[in-house]
Amino acid sequence: MNSSAPSPETELARFIAALPKTETHLHIEGALPWELLCRANPAKYPSPPASWHPDFRFRSFAHFEGELLGYAGDYFQSPERYHECAKAVFADRLARNIHYVETSFASGCIDFMGLDGRAVCDAIRAAVPAGLEVRIFLGIHHNGWTEKMSPVLESALSWPNLDGIDLHGAEDIPVDPAAPAYFRRARGAGKFTKAHAGEFQGAGFVRFAVEELGAQRIEHGVRAIEDPAVAALLAERRIALDVCPVSNVKLRVVPSAAAHPIRRLMDSGVACTVSTDDPVSFGNTPEDEYLLLARDLGFSKNELARVARTGFEVALAPAEWKNPRIRQIDEIVSQGTLV
Ligand SMILES: [Zn+2]
Repeated sequence: MNSSAPSPETELARFIAALPKTETHLHIEGALPWELLCRANPAKYPSPPASWHPDFRFRSFAHFEGELLGYAGDYFQSPERYHECAKAVFADRLARNIHYVETSFASGCIDFMGLDGRAVCDAIRAAVPAGLEVRIFLGIHHNGWTEKMSPVLESALSWPNLDGIDLHGAEDIPVDPAAPAYFRRARGAGKFTKAHAGEFQGAGFVRFAVEELGAQRIEHGVRAIEDPAVAALLAERRIALDVCPVSNVKLRVVPSAAAHPIRRLMDSGVACTVSTDDPVSFGNTPEDEYLLLARDLGFSKNELARVARTGFEVALAPAEWKNPRIRQIDEIVSQGTLV
């Protein structure tokens, strides 16, 4: 054996780097680069938090959300800050061979920070660099259809730079009865509809998101594995899951990385992508998600490539844009070992 041959770890890292990738589950507030938070408030945020350590586990969703809202409140005080953050995040993703990003911004920036949501959306759009396709979603909490917010949410359906909506936030709060009709109107207005489900609530909530909200993609959705009929529903309707394995481990959605159900979901015919969710809290990179699949779940290079390919298949982009990237993935796989 040639002593200069790369180690299996190096070769795996090169393979993952070489794969054209997507990231379709990324909260822009949760993607805030630490350097920007630190620069805005150096005394409060001198160094990354304990939650970046691989062995760190959040006590609960409330623990996680409390810390994240703290960062967001201290940084996202204007549309310009959203622009600054998005510009840095998009440049980072492009440098990681990511060609397509779906990112959401929280309607809380309108409700609690008093920002102009349309201006925030426009500021994120203006940060998109050449070579990266970006779709922007408005994240709405289960109880987000308040008297104050309902007119804003209605107007959002005509914002030209908004590509879709996404139900998010604490899953145990009852979903406002206004949500199903709003999701229908959103689709009627040409917006793509996603919902976080099957993270802290079980498979029944995934079914609710699909059947009652008509969600076209599920964020997380991993607990669909608890009911074979729900996994079959996702497979039949070709509703993909935007899975975030590191997030699931650190938030104790799964007991360990090795116990993560993504392989079982894929074996059930459910299309799955991988993303980082909120890297400012988890300290993860998109490559870490693929590494977890390989190291802890034994994904082969072919299987890693399948996950990357799924990202392009579900992308909200025309086939003539997707196909060359999918072909490139297939060529990398057919080349076998990369040097
Ligand atoms: Zn999420």
